[in-house]
Amino acid sequence: MTVEINRGLCCYCGGCTSVCPVAALTLKETRIEWDKDKCIHCGACELVCPVGAIKVKR
Ligand code: SF4
Ligand code: SF4
Repeated sequence: MTVEINRGLCCYCGGCTSVCPVAALTLKETRIEWDKDKCIHCGACELVCPVGAIKVKR
């Protein structure tokens, strides 16, 4: 399983970083950083993203 972030679509709203229950996503200046070791693949980030930039691949 993995989480894919489309940098072209992401508008850095920070929604996914605040909804992640295990703080696996961090908003950096020019990208969202995803920590595969923390992620539990709950899908919350995918649901909250307003532009469909983040996909949880199961
Ligand atoms: S799938 Fe869940 S745990 Fe993983 S990065 Fe998204 S919100 Fe966080
Ligand atoms: S919720 Fe979507 S648009 Fe917002 S920072 Fe996360 S990936 Fe980017």
